[in-house]
Amino acid sequence: MSEQNRKTVYSACALCYHSCGTEVDVTDGRVTAIRGQQSHPLNKGKLCPKGRATLEHLYHPDRLTHPLKRVGTGYEQISWEQALAEIGAKLNGLKEEYGPEVLAFFCGSIGVENLEIVSLTHRFQGAFGTPNFFSVESICFRMRVRARQMTFGKYVVEEMDSNLYILWGHNPAASDFPLAMAMAENMKKGARVVVIDPRRIAIADKADMYLAIRPGTDGALALALIHVMIDEKLYDADFVEKWTYGFDKLVPHVQQYTPECRSGHLGKS
Ligand code: SF4
Repeated sequence: MSEQNRKTVYSACALCYHSCGTEVDVTDGRVTAIRGQQSHPLNKGKLCPKGRATLEHLYHPDRLTHPLKRVGTGYEQISWEQALAEIGAKLNGLKEEYGPEVLAFFCGSIGVENLEIVSLTHRFQGAFGTPNFFSVESICFRMRVRARQMTFGKYVVEEMDSNLYILWGHNPAASDFPLAMAMAENMKKGARVVVIDPRRIAIADKADMYLAIRPGTDGALALALIHVMIDEKLYDADFVEKWTYGFDKLVPHVQQYTPECRSGHLGKS
């Protein structure tokens, strides 16, 4: 192993949309170690368990590196040439019989972690001639973007440094590593935490308040919170006056949604 062929390069973890910074040791073209980038403002030298397993993603012996064809109840290895010929013939046959729209593509997120696959899928889709493309975006991330754009006028993102965190159906320890890091630091400085979740997630034990709501009652709780904020004048009246639209309709709408109301009342106004 020659030392001159060994280098450390900066990269980014692509296993989720956070894109944490990484330092990657490469020797003779092979990655030997991956660490969190110390100077990166988001992950500050750390990686979540998924990021720490990147080497396994790259080189695990069980990783699929060749085509497998189903035979009976099992699979047999075939060559790339055979795989491409068989799949191409099947797709072209379907296209001839039913037209190109017979094929629909379904992709995961279209965010940074999946950009290459999505770009290639679009090219394949265009070459085949079908307009049918679906992704998780329509029920997940893109809806979040659109809802925020419609509510706030743009896609605002969470403030990671805060002195009050409300985790409403959100478990940073499982799915938002940079936020979990920021929370751990700020909780040491006295930041408070409210957890609203039917599941008693681990951080609920350290929270200032844990609301174990029944599944499907989020809307009732949100409306009751708005009711109390308006009733007890806990909102910022200047902000409402200057920046919001429809407050005059919201006030009568939430009157019936007292903290005592039950979710069964929702939609019966
Ligand atoms: S949170 Fe984890 S999976 Fe996501 S980019 Fe960072 S290290 Fe990778």
